[in-house]
Amino acid sequence: MATYKPGEKCEHSGIYRVEHDPGHTQNHEVTCVYGKPFPPCNTRGCHPRFVPVKLAIHIDSDKNFKK
Ligand SMILES: [Zn+2]
Repeated sequence: MATYKPGEKCEHSGIYRVEHDPGHTQNHEVTCVYGKPFPPCNTRGCHPRFVPVKLAIHIDSDKNFKK
């Protein structure tokens, strides 16, 4: 699957694994929402990658629930 880097727009809401540069923190999972850019890591010089784990449409965009 495609991976994303900071500044790229999130094309599918869901859970992503963040793979940081080795050393400063362990990889972990986050929820990202469609349309928002993936953010930079607060640790200077780190180039995280965002890897889709489980994608799911945000409830606000789901046809059964959106206003
Ligand atoms: Zn980092």
